[in-house]
Amino acid sequence: MNVAIDTADFRTPAERDPRWSILLSRDPAADGTFVYSVRTTGIYCRPTCPSRLAKPVNVAFHATCEEAEQAGFRACRRCRPNEAPLAEKHAAAIARACRRIESAEELPPLEDLAQAAAMSPFHFHRLFKAATGLTPRTYGAAHRAKKVREQLADGRNSVTEAIYDAGFNSSSRFYERSNDVLGMTPTAFRNGGTDAAIRFAVGECALGSILVACSEKGICAILLGEDPDRLARDLQDMFPKARLIGGDATFEDLVARVVGFVEAPGLGLDLPLDVRGTAFQQRVWQALRAIPCGQTASYAEIARRIGEPKSVRAVAQACAANRLAVAIPCHRVVRTDGALSGYRWGVERKRRLIETEAQA
Ligand SMILES: [Zn+2]
Repeated sequence: MNVAIDTADFRTPAERDPRWSILLSRDPAADGTFVYSVRTTGIYCRPTCPSRLAKPVNVAFHATCEEAEQAGFRACRRCRPNEAPLAEKHAAAIARACRRIESAEELPPLEDLAQAAAMSPFHFHRLFKAATGLTPRTYGAAHRAKKVREQLADGRNSVTEAIYDAGFNSSSRFYERSNDVLGMTPTAFRNGGTDAAIRFAVGECALGSILVACSEKGICAILLGEDPDRLARDLQDMFPKARLIGGDATFEDLVARVVGFVEAPGLGLDLPLDVRGTAFQQRVWQALRAIPCGQTASYAEIARRIGEPKSVRAVAQACAANRLAVAIPCHRVVRTDGALSGYRWGVERKRRLIETEAQA
């Protein structure tokens, strides 16, 4: 027997609109997809406006600001729905500062950079760090280091010329710091890392075989795979002229700590990393390390967070160039629709890592 239940809907038209529940949650992702107007005040707002929400009976939805204005509403002065979101304006200002640092011979003073971005030096420094993962000073140093690497790899310039061309004003100052920017001395780098010794060992973990390699500066590679020999060959390809040395008993202890970390990333890894990459890659990798364990972000989000919203492909390439599995958590980056997309060490491992972290 069928029982007819009276399901009369007493909700207002606004409440029946699926956008009403988005309004209640103030979901930042909804920003820019619609605005809402309030009949009693005559203004229209972003869905994320911090003002108190009006009674649903007075609320109407509009696809665009123009639509709301044609209906006779004014823009809210608090959430400014007809202007670019504050985050976008900040990102644009930080991106401009990055370009300026890259093209300057010497690092511009913090006060100048902040003034150009119409912020206080303190606020600018904080936003710059949040967006790029680096301070303006380390960003400038990373960019100059990248130029030195490119010119040394090019092979036509002498080491000294390459250093001056990259804007280091005295080569002795560069040599003092060259270990920080290249991970080895300039001559060793020119030779493809001939002088650099890299110790490594292969072990087993829940995700299969794992290779851990260490330079004098710190862990320079964590590789995952099925075949230990293949992992050793991959390491040789990454550091073609480095002297690879099989790890001894003390090294096994370090590998055990890395394995423990790979199996429970939430615990963190308190070992120094030797991260080698371009300034751009370093910014992407810093942003990846800022994704908390158990969460994911899209390639587009990472691009926005480093102030390069159009560089989604380059972000994906930087993720694929990561040599430090799990320590630089490129597995926490997924496609905008939530699909896993690729993983340098196999998409099945990525799935398992994300699942394990979500449960932790
Ligand atoms: Zn508002």
